[in-house]
Amino acid sequence: MQAAQNNAQSDLPGDAGTISPVGVSAVNPKILEKLTRLDIHTEMDLALHLPIRYEDETRVCPIGHAPHGRVVQVEGVIVDNEVVLKPRRQLVCRIKDKSGSLCMRLLNFYGSQVKSYAPGKRVRLLGEIRHGFFGAEMVHPKCRVVRGNESLPAALTPIYTVTAGLAQKTLGKLIHQILISSRHNSLLAETVPEKITHRYQLPVLKDSILTLHYPSSEIPIELLQSRSHPAWQRVKFDELLAQQLSMRLHYRQRRSRTAPQLHQKRSAQSLHNRFMQQLDFDLTIAQKKVVSEISRDLASKHPMQRLLQGDVGSGKTIVAAIAALQAIENAYQAAIMAPTEILAEQHYRKLSSWFEPLGIQVAWLSGSQKKKDRQLIQAAIESGEAMLSVGTHALFQEQVCFHRLGLTVIDEQHRFGVQQRLALRMKGMRQQSDCVPHQLMMSATPIPRTLSMSYFADLDVSIIDELPPGRSPVMTKLLADSRREDVIARIQQACQRGKQVYWVCPLIEESEALQLQTAMSTYEYLNRTFSDFNVGLVHGRLPAQEKAAVMAEFKQGDIQLLVATTVIEVGVDVPNASLMVIENAERMGLSQLHQLRGRVGRGADASVCILLFQSPLSVVARERLKIIFKHTDGFEIARQDLRLRGPGEFLGARQSGIPMLRFADLELDGALLTAAQSAADEMLDNYPELVQPHIQRWLGNKTEYLRV
Ligand code: ADP
Ligand code: MG
Repeated sequence: MQAAQNNAQSDLPGDAGTISPVGVSAVNPKILEKLTRLDIHTEMDLALHLPIRYEDETRVCPIGHAPHGRVVQVEGVIVDNEVVLKPRRQLVCRIKDKSGSLCMRLLNFYGSQVKSYAPGKRVRLLGEIRHGFFGAEMVHPKCRVVRGNESLPAALTPIYTVTAGLAQKTLGKLIHQILISSRHNSLLAETVPEKITHRYQLPVLKDSILTLHYPSSEIPIELLQSRSHPAWQRVKFDELLAQQLSMRLHYRQRRSRTAPQLHQKRSAQSLHNRFMQQLDFDLTIAQKKVVSEISRDLASKHPMQRLLQGDVGSGKTIVAAIAALQAIENAYQAAIMAPTEILAEQHYRKLSSWFEPLGIQVAWLSGSQKKKDRQLIQAAIESGEAMLSVGTHALFQEQVCFHRLGLTVIDEQHRFGVQQRLALRMKGMRQQSDCVPHQLMMSATPIPRTLSMSYFADLDVSIIDELPPGRSPVMTKLLADSRREDVIARIQQACQRGKQVYWVCPLIEESEALQLQTAMSTYEYLNRTFSDFNVGLVHGRLPAQEKAAVMAEFKQGDIQLLVATTVIEVGVDVPNASLMVIENAERMGLSQLHQLRGRVGRGADASVCILLFQSPLSVVARERLKIIFKHTDGFEIARQDLRLRGPGEFLGARQSGIPMLRFADLELDGALLTAAQSAADEMLDNYPELVQPHIQRWLGNKTEYLRV
């Protein structure tokens, strides 16, 4: 770490061309193919293929004083070697030094090894010493024959992830070559200004990479294994910085476009004020805060790109409505999209009940509409007569043309796949002006802070962190499936008291047909059991119109018990429903369970959510059920979920296109992430020429998704 900091300005790795692919220096094609399997395509990839752990072969311990139960290296002369047949075939060698002796046992061995480990040979063994029947022994240690007075290595031995057909040694050699030549080329030149590395006390990149491949024996091995050594810090920082840079860069590019300026109007006669007066509740403090963040964005002449996060039931719809009004008040249209028809329909009802008294026409785009009706509605959108449109995203992607679209709202955005979401961004709709609409995305999946800072760095984030008053928390019960009878009795009671109930059928991922069949038979069974009550059924395959009709009946209280597949997961709002039964809860993910449970507890009544599970439970399923039982706060559940599954799985659809982190750990490296975040903005402002080289080095072509 002693070398002087390179001059960042003049010694760039430059364009992708200089990051030459591996292979120019005559790497055998078979090895190249193996490297590809390890996702190594360039020399830089090789240099960044950092060890997963280290072995300490830099010192030798006298056999007689070697501690037991720990990996150590010993050196001695083979005094005896024998192939033993009982209890099973094995090669046993006795090795001696001045302080004592031990046995090496090899259970799998080649004939050639019997020869190379002949008596008189001097060997070094690396392994754990244990006490066997015949005294100290090492089973299958790493064993090397020592030639002459070969000296001990000065650096710890790096151990790399390898793949079948590519040995440690081969890979190690390749990496070594690359690193040697990097002394004379710009492969590892700095891409981070010295001012920044200095501020965070980070070592030079080239030294860091060299240290991590060949750490000196002075460095405590724990610092390396735990990845807390400064050299690791530097690598992680650079990786986080690359991620921040690529996302902030795209954020800025999108942001540089023009959007209609939608001014805030708050006069007595403004739509905003008339709307607020007709509401029968006040906004929570958290809602007010996010409303003002959004409102400020809308008034800017650049497109808003904001993600609104709020737990289920936190009241995001009204926030969207207020944003839509701000557009409409400025004579711009707004569009609200939902991932399912049920949810879109519900939004349509709610928003038209709010907006029509104000004289605003709301258009409803539905998949089950007659062609003629649809044409009329599209005409109303195109002429600007209908100022608000509601529908599923699919309906918007078709031939809908807006008169003057100022704002799009995407509800439950986490439900959309990454591709869809990107298509929705900015160019999802045709309209007659060059302006880009503002965009508000809403999500009920709370995301832990560091994850959000990292993977949503290309968005501004607003958070609603409180629920409207007067909600009573939902009590969760875990019951084995064998206690179905008790559950039936409970439903009976609830319905008699005028309450409504959801029964959620198991999710069967392998087969939609099977899932449907299960839902049907559950429905029939419950319909027979509760002859005094109306039982309804809603599932994904129901035509949209029927779905809507069933939901409407449930909402009006004509249906007491609603049997549903997980289609009700998102957004459904029926305050009188206070009991939910979820079958085979062990098959569902945490966020799904949390979302489902959020359908009850929306009224003033104490609500109950019964999770039925089938034994035996897997370890992870048990853990999940424990978490959902213990916690009601969505952020806490998300945090636990992240811990259980790791960021890749946790982010679901988004992960498929996003560069995942190889070295940094969001839970442990929060401080580095904060540093990388501000460094990214500083680099974009003051060192723009370093941005591309840095991104290219760390992410290569893994940033395509952002260019959509
Ligand atoms: P989500 O954030 O899950 O989309 P909704 O917007 O569906 O939540 O709101 C849930 C319920 O809470 C709705 O019935 C809504 O009218 C009601 N609500 C929203 N904000 C408030 C508030 N400030 N006070 C009381 N009720 C509210
Ligand atoms: Mg909602």
